[in-house]
Amino acid sequence: MAEPVIAIVMPCYNDSEVLPLSVERLSGILDTLVAAGKISPQSFMLCVNDGSTDGTWQLINKFHKSDPRVKGVALAHNRGQQCALMAGLMTVNGKCDAAITIDADLQDDPAVIGEMVEMFRDGKDIVYGVRKSRAIDSWFKRTSAHAFYRLQRSLGMNTIYDHADYRLMSDRAIGLLSEYGEANLFLRGIIPQIGLDSGVVAYDRQKRAAGESNYSLTKMISFSIDGVTSFSAKPIRMIFFVGLALLLLDIIVALYVFTSYFSDRTILGWTSLMLSVWFLGSIILMSIGVVGEYIGKIFSEVKHRPRYAIRDTLWD
Ligand code: UDP
Ligand code: MG
Repeated sequence: MAEPVIAIVMPCYNDSEVLPLSVERLSGILDTLVAAGKISPQSFMLCVNDGSTDGTWQLINKFHKSDPRVKGVALAHNRGQQCALMAGLMTVNGKCDAAITIDADLQDDPAVIGEMVEMFRDGKDIVYGVRKSRAIDSWFKRTSAHAFYRLQRSLGMNTIYDHADYRLMSDRAIGLLSEYGEANLFLRGIIPQIGLDSGVVAYDRQKRAAGESNYSLTKMISFSIDGVTSFSAKPIRMIFFVGLALLLLDIIVALYVFTSYFSDRTILGWTSLMLSVWFLGSIILMSIGVVGEYIGKIFSEVKHRPRYAIRDTLWD
């Protein structure tokens, strides 16, 4: 295999403080890998400016002037990290052999880029960067993140534990990703769905080199809700089962109501009210669940996800 052209894709949102450090560090890594004959000298970096308001774009322009290997693309306004990542990946689609997405703050250790490239050269289409430990995270971030992974698992989603958006994707994987037309992006859920051979490299997550996190608690919560609701209709299905459980409970309630009635411990009207409240309540919930099943179908149809992904073709 000739040395692959590697693209490093970095979403940047108000990251002017940390960007000079990151660009320098990543250029160094590219240089080392080129010198070692692991990657092509045509390898490059793409900074995706996600509508920053702090001069990040001016900085990217400056870097591009002094080193054309630093390329840039600017979104018209702030669309969030997932959209910025998608924009970057679609920009390099067809222009590289593999792309590595990494946060601009270099919290994800760029030292394992070499390992990712090695696995790609060994035939992996997707290499996930996975954190070794979360020791530097706050107790809250750690616990909430783990609870979220467990929730995703229990809802039948196929996500990689402790993997954020630090990963390598081959041009084939990026091509397949381009067929996902959904607007609510949750790449960590979509990419494992693509299939293809994948590998994992472990790294230690660092503290931010400079600047501050742009993920507020509200952004994190809405991201989590998006993550679940874009992949699972199970919460809807649960409504039906809650209704069913209530209907079963209804039998016990009915027994109690009837014994009270026949032992003359009730007032007029209580028996019929109790029976109808419980019975109707459970029937209504089950009916909502049935309607929900159809909404679940509509929800998966409107996303127009590809029905299958072709790995290889032998033709001629
Ligand atoms: N980011 C982005 N758009 C946003 C928020 C963040 O492109 O609206 C980028 C940001 O530039 C960084 C990455 O997403 O490269 C991760 O953001 P951050 O470090 O603020 O999040 P944390 O590491 O705290 O989860
Ligand atoms: Mg960060």
